[in-house]
Amino acid sequence: MTQALLRIGLGYDVHAFSADRALILGGVSVPHDQGLAGHSDADVLVHALMDALVGAMRKGDIGRLFPDTDPAFKGISSLLLLGHVGELMRGEGYRLVDADTVLVLEQPKVSPYRDEMRANMARALGVDVDLIGVKATTTEGLGFAGRGEGVAAQAVVLLQRDAS
Ligand code: MG
Repeated sequence: MTQALLRIGLGYDVHAFSADRALILGGVSVPHDQGLAGHSDADVLVHALMDALVGAMRKGDIGRLFPDTDPAFKGISSLLLLGHVGELMRGEGYRLVDADTVLVLEQPKVSPYRDEMRANMARALGVDVDLIGVKATTTEGLGFAGRGEGVAAQAVVLLQRDAS
């Protein structure tokens, strides 16, 4: 009987707000008067999810996989990078059991876009949308998120692989 190997992964990311940028969260262009600064499209939610997946695979972090010094990743859609992480996951013999994420921001309200974010990330990863959770919270005005200086995101994933 093969035994299942279970791995959990935790991801965390922060990006600062910046004028003249689109706000991309979970692959959705969310209407707002500013976006997030970053080398890629600065999709903080997808970055946290990718780091959780890479962490569960014990493959370091997304900074190692996709260096922000590499011009190939400048302005790139983070959903494309998530697709690469999905391929890596399958290549390593892992299956996503479940994932949950949380956005931490004061503005804008993102709940109308939640299901679109879930669908985008599930499609990029090649998994059922039911496996991807997205929610959001404020920090009651406290800290950098509360002051509207940036957005944080956290993700947790559970991966399964046949033990060899
Ligand atoms: Mg990032």
